[in-house]
Amino acid sequence: MSKTYELSCDCGHVTMTASGEPKLSLHCHCSSCRDLYNVDVLSATGWAHENVDLPDESKLFVHKTDGKQMTRYGCPKCGLMMYGVHKPGIPVIPHGVFRKANDGELPDELAPTLHLFYRERVLDIDDDLEKCDDGSAVGLSG
Ligand SMILES: [Zn+2]
Ligand SMILES: [Zn+2]
Repeated sequence: MSKTYELSCDCGHVTMTASGEPKLSLHCHCSSCRDLYNVDVLSATGWAHENVDLPDESKLFVHKTDGKQMTRYGCPKCGLMMYGVHKPGIPVIPHGVFRKANDGELPDELAPTLHLFYRERVLDIDDDLEKCDDGSAVGLSG
């Protein structure tokens, strides 16, 4: 029943899998995500630890942000960001990593359901998804 996503960086050095359903899929506008990933909006999925098989840390570059309790992990060879671990401690995998594994498309079942921390945005988004001012809708304090 449960679906398994085989994920890889651009050069194939780093592989990992996610299976079943993510805990959440969303667009996050918070300043921490923008800093961590160097993007205007982070579009990503969050997973329970038991649903992901993460690569050995020795294969990855690991960067912790100052004081923010966030860490990003990527491939040291091709530089692709594979996932991050954020304040609640769950692995967060950007939608782009799934797109690369699925001919450029985000699998339908991973479609984002809302925008978080929309009041911190630097980019306005005109779509039909719910816009949450903060992270309380999914139990995040920001
Ligand atoms: Zn790579
Ligand atoms: Zn965020």
